[in-house]
Order: sequence, then structure tokens, then C-alpha cells
Amino acid sequence: MDVEAVLGKIHDPWVKSVLAELNQQDAADELISGELERFFELLGEAIKDQDPGWLNPLLIDWAASRTETDMAAEEITISPILKIISESMLSVAVEFLSPEEANALAIELMPIMYYAYEKIAQHESLVRVSYYSARLDQVTDELSRLDKTKSDFISVAAHELKTPLTLIEGYSSMLEDTARRKSDLTAIELVGGIKKGIGRLEEMIGDMIDISMIDNQVLALRYQPMWINQILDGLAIELSEVVAQRNLTLEIEPFDGFKQMILADPERIQQAIRNVLTNAIKYTPDGGKITVDGRELSGFLEVRIEDTGIGISPEDQITIFEKFSSLTEVRLHSSSKTNFKGGGPGLGLPIARGILTSHGGSIWVESDGYDEEKLQGSIFHLLIPIRTEPPDVQMTKLFRNEGQDA
Ligand code: ADP
Repeated sequence: MDVEAVLGKIHDPWVKSVLAELNQQDAADELISGELERFFELLGEAIKDQDPGWLNPLLIDWAASRTETDMAAEEITISPILKIISESMLSVAVEFLSPEEANALAIELMPIMYYAYEKIAQHESLVRVSYYSARLDQVTDELSRLDKTKSDFISVAAHELKTPLTLIEGYSSMLEDTARRKSDLTAIELVGGIKKGIGRLEEMIGDMIDISMIDNQVLALRYQPMWINQILDGLAIELSEVVAQRNLTLEIEPFDGFKQMILADPERIQQAIRNVLTNAIKYTPDGGKITVDGRELSGFLEVRIEDTGIGISPEDQITIFEKFSSLTEVRLHSSSKTNFKGGGPGLGLPIARGILTSHGGSIWVESDGYDEEKLQGSIFHLLIPIRTEPPDVQMTKLFRNEGQDA
């Protein structure tokens, strides 16, 4: 086939037909016509050389020319244009060429157009992937900026609230003294109510300060010898009143490593376990059972806290460790930390996770799902690293010196 002669015969009607199909306004015609000319020229070379690779630069340019607006508008692809280009070429060929010439052109055209479709799809996906990854970076930046603002706000608010609270606490203690001196029972009872409220506020402000320290990775741990049995026994005593009030059973079963001395921050570990235990109490209906047991793993002690409560749906099993995860459930919020489904600001588990991860441990939950009738329960797993030396170099020195002195 004389490529130049055959293509020459269909050039003008083909350009006209493609432009008509594309339904272009005059202003854009020049640009499109230029691109069509380029395509036509490269197509001639591709047919002559039997090498569709001639079209590559043009296809790459077309794919890369997708604008941000095209992408945002989810305009999927420019392959419909390729379809118009090849269909117009075939119909013009049938009209303007002899049947033999049209046939020969179609045979040459087929593999080249397949190649072009494949290439354009490849390039378009690359362009699209880089567009979405840039968008993703933008969104991630924006999210971390928002999260930082939220953290800063929590930290400032918590510290600002502390000052007036200390004042209220001081004055209510003076009021209590006066009431006691005068043996005014009503006033003593009222001040008792105020002090209970102050206690709750202090706990909440403490949680807010803790979560902002965790967020900013400045939670300081005081490594000391610690025995998990002592921590659990202390908590059992602390919580015995609520456990009895709610007619619950709290069972602590000894396990390997239960009485082993490890180095950790006992106050913080107790706080983490307390948060999980108070949740077990809060989300288990009266009469239920909470079991604490565990095991020794290589390098870790695992504490398991199992309850017979309402359970947790699979989708919530990850989000509950994020701060304020329960804020949306306003109906659940009450002033009590231990009432059934008492609710709270949603900081208990994020703090527990922050404490454990700062120790080099972790926390996760297992549950067959949330069901207030079936009460499938939840099992929280807390991993605490077994350390015999504090991780901090300076602390290590301090401990060594102590040992040498002894
Ligand atoms: P809070 O109890 O203040 O809402 P937490 O961070 O302690 O916040 O817990 C987050 C959420 O996880 C709770 O609101 C509750 O929905 C769910 N949850 C935690 N522990 C349990 C449990 N033992 N059983 C069922 N749900 C739980």
C-alpha cells in the first residue's frame, strides 16, 4: 500500500469528520486541528515503519495534558477521542478509498490503534495516580494541621481551667472547715457535693493534659521496679465499692509473671489498667463478671481483661483508641464514671494506648460484636514489655550506681 497516497486521500475529510464529531467551538478548532495533524503525521510514520511507538510522544502529551479541573471533575479518560479518531478514519476510508485500499488501511490501522489505547490507558493511570497522591498529601497535611490545632487547644484549655479550679478547691476546703467547726451538717453535705464535682473536673483536666502530652510525645515515664500483682490488687481494692454497688464480680487470676519484678512507670501502668477496668465495669450490666488474667510471652507480660458486657462492633474496635471517639454519642454522657454505660469524653482508651506504647507495649481488643441483649463481652489485651533495665541511658547509669553502692 502506498501509505502517503492513501492517507493523502482521506486527510481532509477525516479532519473535518473528527472535528464535527468532537463538536468543537471555533476557538478550540485550531488547537485540536494542530493535534490532529500531529497524529496524522505520526500515524503515517508508524504505518510505514510498522512501529506504533511513533505515537508515544503524542500519547504521553495527551495524557499529561489533563488539567486539575478534569481530574477533580472525574472526567475519566481521553480514549473516547481515540475512538472518534479511529472510527472517523474507517468511515472516511470506506467513502473515499477503493475497497482494496480501505481494507489495507484497516488492517494496518488495527494494531496501531490497539497499541494507542493501551498506551493512553497506561499513561492516564500514571497521571491519575500522581494526581491522587498529591491530593492525599494535601489532605494529610491539612488533617495533621487540624489535629495539632485541636491538641494545642486542649492543652491550653486544660492549663487555663486548672487555676480557677484550684481557687474553688481552696475556698470549698475553707467552707468545709467552717461548717465542721459550726457542726452545720447541711453545709457539710453541700460542700461534700461540691468537692465531688471538683474531683471529677480534676480527673477530666488531668486526662486532657495527659492526652496532649501523649499527642506531643512528651509523656515522661518514671521507671521504677513494679509488680503487676500489686498494681492489680491495688485496683481491686480501689474499685471494690463500685463493683459491689453494681453487683459485679471482679476476679483476678494469678498467671506466670504475675509476681515478677519489672521496670516500668507503676503509676502510669496502673492508670492504663484502671481505664480499661473502669470501662469493663461501665459497659457490663449489673450482675456481670470481669476477669483479669494474663500470661508471660517472650519479652512481654500480657494482661487480659475480659468482661461480660455489651461488646464492641468490629468497626469500633480500632476507632475507640482514637481520642474523643465517643463524643458523637452525646446521649451516653453522664456524670458518673462507673454507671452502666455512663459515658465519658472518650479519652480513657487513647490514654491507655499512649501509656502502653510509650513503654514499648501495645493494647488491642477482641469482641464478637456489640449486642446489648446477647452480651458477647470484650477482651482487652495489654502488652507490657518486661524490662530489667530502664531504657533511658541516664536512668540506667543511676540504677547501676545504686546497685554498686549497695
Ligand atoms: P469513654 O468511656 O470516656 O467514652 P474510652 O476511651 O474509655 O472513653 O472508651 C471509648 C469507647 O469504647 C466507649 O465510649 C465505649 O463505646 C467503648 N468501650 C470501651 N471499653 C468497652 C467495653 N469494655 N465494652 C464495651 N465498649 C467499650
